[in-house]
Amino acid sequence: MRSVDVLSRAFSGARQVYVQAIVVKSVLLVTCMLVTTVAVYPEAAASSSASRITEMPRASAITSEPPLITEAMVSSWVTRWQQRLAMNDWKIETKIVRLNQLPKGTIANIHWSLPKRTATIKVLDPIDSTLVRSEIVRDTELSVVHELVHLSMAKLPLDSNNTDLEEETVKKLSTALLALDKVEQNAKQ
Ligand SMILES: [Zn+2]
Repeated sequence: MRSVDVLSRAFSGARQVYVQAIVVKSVLLVTCMLVTTVAVYPEAAASSSASRITEMPRASAITSEPPLITEAMVSSWVTRWQQRLAMNDWKIETKIVRLNQLPKGTIANIHWSLPKRTATIKVLDPIDSTLVRSEIVRDTELSVVHELVHLSMAKLPLDSNNTDLEEETVKKLSTALLALDKVEQNAKQ
């Protein structure tokens, strides 16, 4: 019922704007619409999913739920797996990025400088993920492990024109490592 209240209030707000639009200049209308949006937003964000029917900016609907992946989570995975893979000589930065900040068809990537021993791992923001929510956390950790395994091979004489074999190996190793980790975690519980 609460969500219905929010909706009807939102609509009455919109109607007021419409009525004002008839009598005042268009410049003022823009101001009113902005004020209405700001006023409606906090109530709508706290309500149930029904409130999402109203046309709100995407970000406002998301603020009602805690983020699935945080910068702290990603960097804690990096720290943990970096230690396991004995890669403490690397300084690794992490970023949660939108889909358009990653190469097409990828959900994570890594850039590194071998002489500087620095690297940046980017993982996909869950907002843009096509996976079900329950799989996103584990899959993002897998992406971190995957990119670290790539980094562990950075010193090898790899063929940058033929990365298929490297990709296949990295995929197998990272999946196996995470599966082992899961067994270990379950045994502790
Ligand atoms: Zn890869």
